[in-house]
Amino acid sequence: MKEIFVDKNIVIVGHYKSILEDAGILTLIRNEALAMTEVPTLAFYPSLCVMNDEDANRAIKILSDYQAKEKKTITGEDKICSECSESNPANFETCWSCSKDLD
Ligand SMILES: [Zn+2]
Repeated sequence: MKEIFVDKNIVIVGHYKSILEDAGILTLIRNEALAMTEVPTLAFYPSLCVMNDEDANRAIKILSDYQAKEKKTITGEDKICSECSESNPANFETCWSCSKDLD
């Protein structure tokens, strides 16, 4: 078992766990119960572990790709609709104005 991610926010750790499970990687959250019931200190932050050490590199890659994508979504440039020229936030997939798919 290998620890690959730690965060004080159990929601994020749980979210990453589901991403890895979707990719077929067996995972486990340590300190989950402590995080729920006590004020967590760093030593007791919930941590995401892969059950098989050989999955660790792939899991880290998946999470860093996900984080990069998420960051890009938040900070990305507005998208200009090719149909009606309205400006849409970077995380929109369809135009708010005319519902055309955005690239
Ligand atoms: Zn549009």
